[in-house]
Amino acid sequence: MTEKRILKIPEIPRGSRLERYVKAIDEAAETDPSKLNDFFLDVFKACSSYVRSSSLEGAVWPLNTVFHRCATTNEFQEILKNLDEETIEKESPKHPENMLAVCVGDNILARIFIDCECLIETLKRNAVTFVYTVVETYFHEILHGVFQERKSEQEVWNMQFPLIENFLGFRIPQERKKMSAEDYYSNKT
Ligand SMILES: [Zn+2]
Repeated sequence: MTEKRILKIPEIPRGSRLERYVKAIDEAAETDPSKLNDFFLDVFKACSSYVRSSSLEGAVWPLNTVFHRCATTNEFQEILKNLDEETIEKESPKHPENMLAVCVGDNILARIFIDCECLIETLKRNAVTFVYTVVETYFHEILHGVFQERKSEQEVWNMQFPLIENFLGFRIPQERKKMSAEDYYSNKT
């Protein structure tokens, strides 16, 4: 489960993937906002193959992954209501309105749901925040998907940052990396 957070990035490194994505988003927002929907899917695929190619020790890829883009927060919240109690209990966030995504499943089928409406809201701030939030959300949920119960929330948090840095090609501010699962969930595991 990931939540909406704000990131201050001092500067975007030239030639980085972050720069490429930010340009694509700026263009899409200006010319054809429906392209955002493709962006959500394309970036998910890129993050997925990146984690896969990182050959993380102990990672088990589910046979199938279903990636579902909820167009509205209402749709996303409806899905949350139907999750089993154990999942909800484990990742019950302190600020449920900030929840962006969730991963449920097992080694056969992992289902990742994202709240597009909520993610697009971060675009009002700026394209960098939006791109970073989308990528962080994906890495977090993909790691949950491949480690299931074998890694705690905090372990997933710690693992995600070096992967995101390499993937996007920029250094995440230290204060962000120091954040802990405890800051975000009322029932950390
Ligand atoms: Zn989580």
